[in-house]
Amino acid sequence: MIRVNDNFQELPSVYLFTQISRILSKYKEEKGVLPLIRMDIGDIPGPLPKSVARAMKEAVDQLSKPESFKGYGPEQGYSFLREVIAQKDYRERNLPIDSSEIFISDGAKCDLGNLGDILSQDSVIGVMDPSYPAYIDDNVIDGRAGSLIDGRYNRVNYFKCVAEKNFSPELPQSKVDIIYLCSPNNPTGTVMSHQELEKWVDYAKKNNSLIIFDSAYEAYIRTPGLPKSIYEIAGAKEVAIEVRSFSKTGGFTGVRCGYTIVPKEIVGYYKDGTPVTLNALWSRRQTTKFNGASYVAQCGAAALYTENGRREVKEMTDQYLENALELRKMFEESGWKVFGAMDSPYVWAENPYGLSSTETFQKLLETCGVSTTPGSGFGREGEGFIRLTGFNSRENTQLAISRFLKGFKEL
Ligand code: PLP
Repeated sequence: MIRVNDNFQELPSVYLFTQISRILSKYKEEKGVLPLIRMDIGDIPGPLPKSVARAMKEAVDQLSKPESFKGYGPEQGYSFLREVIAQKDYRERNLPIDSSEIFISDGAKCDLGNLGDILSQDSVIGVMDPSYPAYIDDNVIDGRAGSLIDGRYNRVNYFKCVAEKNFSPELPQSKVDIIYLCSPNNPTGTVMSHQELEKWVDYAKKNNSLIIFDSAYEAYIRTPGLPKSIYEIAGAKEVAIEVRSFSKTGGFTGVRCGYTIVPKEIVGYYKDGTPVTLNALWSRRQTTKFNGASYVAQCGAAALYTENGRREVKEMTDQYLENALELRKMFEESGWKVFGAMDSPYVWAENPYGLSSTETFQKLLETCGVSTTPGSGFGREGEGFIRLTGFNSRENTQLAISRFLKGFKEL
């Protein structure tokens, strides 16, 4: 008998986005319906920035010649990429991150899941409600979440995020060991201020907790003064790991590349009290279970830091922000309460007619041929909301807006 990981039985039977994909596949098979415009899943329409494509082609050329071929690279990532990240994303912003604290990966989703390998299974985790579903699901698989009772895991601490407080998470009443924070948050599109993050760093210090800070969407922050990195908060290097992705900044959803900062200051302890830095543990984990991100992908990622690459990232993110802002404006003018879009590609809109998230999702699909994501799929506090993304062409965004304006009359 092959015994399997029992924790999988505690997962919801299907992942939220898989469930939506099934409904949408059925919709597409129906006759006489409007051609579908997808505003649900957070994938980007592409293409890759030109500087990235060029760098990747050059990398393939190098690999094609015996004198410049590269086999296995360093598990932590090539130093050319780690150095440029340390310099441009951190030191130029007066954040003292060393390249040895940067670990290149094949994307943020993998790192977020894999980080569980270096943390005790007994740890109590806490997540923002609503938030990106992977944080909880990863911990369900690792056995930290407990059992699902009435839609909530009994060992997970849910940090309530409500509209009245701009979806900023409430501090927990009890001790949480591993805190997941995401800013700009997926799905609400809201960004935590310095003051709000300071509260969390302070909590983590007082409670010996670890913060896993997901800043996959930092490149969308435009409002001056909002923090892009948790390390802008004094003392955060002792308590926080930062996870980043090139997916939505450089169009890498298919290429796959991201990075995680594990500062050397963070110390953890074995059961017998022996201290160990999380940096050393993560390095050990990566060298054991990972053979490094693709050389081609890393050359592409490095190109994002060139002058042309930076300009292209700005242009691309500007376009998605513009789409999101137009959607936001349309929803607001139609009487919906809307969040996000200012510093995030996500639009988070509350149905003003009292329909639930899934009812709104169904109605908008049937009447407008536009797919959204039901907010309740991101947590209980997301009920009544839907999430839309600006990751679309200009034309599709405008078409969706005109269909919404007609369709809203039927809601
Ligand atoms: N973190 C958040 C908040 C996300 O929304 C996503 C992707 O949608 C990820 C991480 C995963 O990013 P990657 O494509 O680098 O795995």
